[in-house]
Amino acid sequence: MVFLNLPKIAMAVAAGIFAVALQAAEPLGKAEVESALNAAYAKYKTLQEGANADYIPALAKVDPDIYGIALVTPDGKIYTTGDVKSEVSIQSISKVFTMALVMEESGPGSIYDNMGVDATGQVFNSIVAVEQYKGAEMNPLVNAGAITATSMVKGSSREEIWEKILQYYNDFAGRELSVNKEVFDSEAATNQRNQAIAQLMYAYGHIKDNPARATDIYTEQCSVNVNAKDLAVMAVTLANGGRNPLTGKQVMKNENVAEVLAVMATAGLYDDSGKWLYHTGLPAKSGVGGGIIAVSPGRFGIAVISPPLDPAGNSVRAQKAIADISNALGGNPYEVTPAR
Ligand code: GLN
Repeated sequence: MVFLNLPKIAMAVAAGIFAVALQAAEPLGKAEVESALNAAYAKYKTLQEGANADYIPALAKVDPDIYGIALVTPDGKIYTTGDVKSEVSIQSISKVFTMALVMEESGPGSIYDNMGVDATGQVFNSIVAVEQYKGAEMNPLVNAGAITATSMVKGSSREEIWEKILQYYNDFAGRELSVNKEVFDSEAATNQRNQAIAQLMYAYGHIKDNPARATDIYTEQCSVNVNAKDLAVMAVTLANGGRNPLTGKQVMKNENVAEVLAVMATAGLYDDSGKWLYHTGLPAKSGVGGGIIAVSPGRFGIAVISPPLDPAGNSVRAQKAIADISNALGGNPYEVTPAR
């Protein structure tokens, strides 16, 4: 009996190994991606929830009906639906890439040591969160940490620092991005709260000098214009170990990518990051311009743009559409089929 069953066992084991191998390597099929994108697009197109950010006056004027979805795979396939031409300001999504730049220049420990990588449990521009631990126990994806990260980018002049940041973003997007001047001017005229946050981070020694300049450069980095496809290419560069699959350029060190993704998982959607991770398992980052990027490591980068936000500052349609699409495509890295 035992002898007779052996081939069956061997076959089952072989089939199991085969299934696991398939699960790991199986590329996403065109039809399944297109149908997931189209279904999510249609389902939320008429959803009327949330409101444009209006604490930056220029953002209140952006067309709330802009709605575009893009997904890019590590082998460079691009899928889009809806409006992928309209550009919005990148806003807080920029924080991910400035964080990566600082880690490239000064080592991953530079971020970890100077501000920390913990969720604050507070709104993204919280002053209480700075006060609580004197600017530590923070992270580079909320304003205090992000302005501090911008202050850490090396360069001998404002211009040199700015050029380096923009070039870095360009490498992630695979094209030359530009600044939305109206948004930049509008936020620069109304960002007293961020100026105060930067002064506090300076007072507590996290920003070493010139907090006003750091805030100004941070405001400009938030004003970079992107469309849904740009954001998806930036996201897939993270999904692909730091290499942009469209240009082939290794944009950031492979060994820093996992740490950037970990901080995105912890704090990418501010004080709603836990809920988001619970539902999707995806490292992600939102911006008050209405964009969200999410990363399924090794599988895809996805982005949705839709300006109306929920009270935490995250795009309503983008959260719903990304969650649906990722769930349809098996994007949650924590979901594993038992081997036996
Ligand atoms: N520039 C915006 C700010 O500093 C970015 C905030 C965001 O996207 N959550 O307030």
